[in-house]
Amino acid sequence: MEREVQRLRRAFRSGRSRPLRFRLQQLEALRRMVQEREADILAAIAADLCKSELNAYSQEVITILGEIDFMLNNLADWVTAKPVKKNLFTMLDEAYVQAEPLGVVLIIGAWNYPFVLTIQPLIGAIAAGNAVILKPSELSEHTAQVLAKLLPQYLDQDLYAVVNGGVKETTELLKERFDHILYTGNAAVGRVVMEAAAKHLTPVTLELGGKSPCYIDKDCDLDTVCRRITWGKYMNCGQTCIAPDYVLCEASLQNHIVQKIKETVQEFYGENIKESPDYERIINLRHFKRIQSLLEGQKIAFGGETDEATRYIAPTVLTDVDPEAKVMQEEIFGPVLPIVPVKNADEAIQFINEREKPLALYIFSHNDKVTAGWGLTTESILLTLFPTSAPAC
Ligand code: NAD
Repeated sequence: MEREVQRLRRAFRSGRSRPLRFRLQQLEALRRMVQEREADILAAIAADLCKSELNAYSQEVITILGEIDFMLNNLADWVTAKPVKKNLFTMLDEAYVQAEPLGVVLIIGAWNYPFVLTIQPLIGAIAAGNAVILKPSELSEHTAQVLAKLLPQYLDQDLYAVVNGGVKETTELLKERFDHILYTGNAAVGRVVMEAAAKHLTPVTLELGGKSPCYIDKDCDLDTVCRRITWGKYMNCGQTCIAPDYVLCEASLQNHIVQKIKETVQEFYGENIKESPDYERIINLRHFKRIQSLLEGQKIAFGGETDEATRYIAPTVLTDVDPEAKVMQEEIFGPVLPIVPVKNADEAIQFINEREKPLALYIFSHNDKVTAGWGLTTESILLTLFPTSAPAC
């Protein structure tokens, strides 16, 4: 690992990655890779997550092509020095802000959207003129292998390297000195990454998880709301960082929500969900067993079927869930949706504020007073409205 980092650092210090023209060429080469090797990429994602071509293309490939185009269109402006207002201390100087590459960047990717979560940070790092070591998740091993095979065929090999492996290899990598680390994954490993980075005072960008709540108010269009929640929750078999994790609502709404989500699941995935090309599988046996154990002792309103051999877990809704239940203690990251009855929006706000900060929060209400009342103490709250479209419509 040490030699690999040194090799990249030498290439970075040669200055090759800095000129705008070089960065644009590399980004164009990356775009060519995605376009020319689309079939290999989609096959690898399918092998890892049982994801259909349509889902893999729309969830992972389109985003990457869009991000590359965005960089190509804006980079010339971003690399240009921007004059800044002078003050007493700089009045005799030429004062400007110039974005500079940092050096050698480590990117540690996650498995749940194995292509986009690894390549998107790479695009930014190349655009910013850095050298990069890319460490895809070992859990999505097919995508990791495809990345290790394809990237050297299209990108400068002295500046961009793929290192495959598991915890051992990542631990070795983290001993090295980097100039920035971008990590996507769970918070426990996030702490490991931050601790390792602190030894070298390396700045980090941590894309972590959390339990993202939904609050469904009685004054809302329940049909639309349940379609949106069904789409967001069961897409990628619930293995999405900002998937709705659980629902808070008044007890009187619970049965209506169950019924509407059940109908929508049937509309999206058909009578035999196991045969649906739109429904994925759990990434591995460890995660399968973890999610399965969350169902123990719970009131299953619908779903709950599992098949260990294919790592299938049906879209599931749990009702009257006790806030102390295991399913409410950790990010679910699977197709299980607990409903926790609360008295009103105030109680929902209190419930959320008493817990770890979520990644996203979904509030469904027509009532301005309800939607304005979320003066949450959570800093990272992202108020998101799902688009009305669903994968099957
Ligand atoms: P994972 O198991 O693939 O781990 C992520 C990376 O960490 C892998 O590359 C792995 O090799 C490395 N790693 C694992 N254990 C390690 C250790 N002990 N020391 C050093 N490195 C180690 O992925 P995961 O953590 O299961 O990913 C799911 C989590 O990621 C969820 O919490 C999800 O919400 C979150 N996530 C967040 C975002 C976001 O943008 N915020 C996006 C996707 C996923």
